[in-house]
Amino acid sequence: MSRPVRVRFAPSPTGPLHVGGVRTALFNYLFAKKNNGKLILRIEDTDQTRYVAGAEEYIIESLKWCGINFDEDVVKGGDYGPYRQSDRKEIYHQYADTLINCGNAYYAFDTPEELDSIRKEKEALKQQFQYDVFTRKNMRNSLTLQESEVKELLASGVHYVIRFKMPENEIVHMNDIIRGKVEVNTNTLDDKVLYKSDRMPTYHLANIVDDHLMEISHVIRGEEWLPSLPLHVLLYRAFGWDNTMPEFAHLPLILKPDGKGKLSKRDGDKLGFPVFPTDWKTAEGEIYSGYRESGYFPEAFVNMLSLLGWNPGTEQEIFSLEQLCEIFVLERVGKAGSRFDPDKTKWFNHQYLIVKSKSELALMLKPEFEKQGINAEISLIEKICELLKERATFVKDILKESIFFFKAPESYDAEAIKKRWKPETPSILNELKEIISSAESLEPHQLEEKVKTHFESKNIGLGQVMTPFRIAVVGTTSGPGMFEIVELLCKEEIISRIENAVKKIS
Ligand code: GLU
Repeated sequence: MSRPVRVRFAPSPTGPLHVGGVRTALFNYLFAKKNNGKLILRIEDTDQTRYVAGAEEYIIESLKWCGINFDEDVVKGGDYGPYRQSDRKEIYHQYADTLINCGNAYYAFDTPEELDSIRKEKEALKQQFQYDVFTRKNMRNSLTLQESEVKELLASGVHYVIRFKMPENEIVHMNDIIRGKVEVNTNTLDDKVLYKSDRMPTYHLANIVDDHLMEISHVIRGEEWLPSLPLHVLLYRAFGWDNTMPEFAHLPLILKPDGKGKLSKRDGDKLGFPVFPTDWKTAEGEIYSGYRESGYFPEAFVNMLSLLGWNPGTEQEIFSLEQLCEIFVLERVGKAGSRFDPDKTKWFNHQYLIVKSKSELALMLKPEFEKQGINAEISLIEKICELLKERATFVKDILKESIFFFKAPESYDAEAIKKRWKPETPSILNELKEIISSAESLEPHQLEEKVKTHFESKNIGLGQVMTPFRIAVVGTTSGPGMFEIVELLCKEEIISRIENAVKKIS
């Protein structure tokens, strides 16, 4: 019988989560939902030197914005808590002892200075030092020292670490859901530190012990953890937990847009787009931009992330979180790194924007207008949204593009005037003004017909009329259809704008 699905997202609070981390959380979430399982958030903060204040709160809040909810976490609790490793400190010691007692780990007394000097010696010879099956025989540890000496050292309170004793010359066979079979010879691996005399475990020990105690069924994490897999598999074996070892799936890297290298936290805003879900403020007050504050909808952001490395097997690209929960399978995650595409991210946002109802958009925009000192009727904002949403990527674009509805242009696009404002323009605009002021209805089609018929009969092309008209009313040459604009402005306003432009420009 297969075991209940329990997966975890296990970030270290060393800074803000970047898009790769969010994608890992998302895939865990989708996998849990699809399999009626549970998703756990575990904070892995055993490395106190890398702890960053505020990072844990950031992780929780930004994932909430994405709609990724946990069944068990540091806030909610759960049957397998505590969920923050620093609150579980007391648990790990006995497991380190177990490994020592069964001969799978040993005490090492080499000081950081001694290790450093060996490293430097090797570097000078263009070699690399690794504490492993070969070198451990020449180091100061419980494998080389007399038992009595080891006892004395331990009693004296000197600094020590507990290292995993890699088996010699053995092939470790592993299976990864995404990558298939992987194998490695233990002679190439190092004896990782598992525990330190300051009574803190390292990532490897705490991670394995917690995954076991929390009954994790599948470990879904980034590819950067693949090199740790042999050690993790050997740790399960050493503890005698082989039968309940989770299945592993290592997600492919997210690459920079040019495909050259991994998209990293350090890329910050350097590449011209956010790499964080929400704004991140450093202790020094520096701000790195986030998708939320840049105007992205969480649904669009999550939809974009879901297709980084996973594919549905069809051409469909737009998926709600609920749909993703129904169709997500790890078998459709690829091995190859996937390029991050900032333009595509904008495209997703646009797709989500255009299907929002006019009233939803108007409610988002109303406060933005108010900030600009514009107190517009909600019904007018709704009409503006309908008119402009096809041209917008973000809600704020609608705001930017619609200011002219409320404020007559104070200046006019000089380049456009040079090209399109002719000596005959004032008289053409005066005729247009007459048509508008005598029109019974400003319904776009009717008005357009009237204007067309009038000017065609005088052999004046519509281009000669409409561009100057737009300059007069909007101030520039771009924007939605002029007749649609006219319908939303009152007659007096249009007439006054035409008169003003004729006066000012001519
Ligand atoms: N704490 C590790 C990280 O920061 C977790 C790796 C894992 O999922 O095993 O990514």
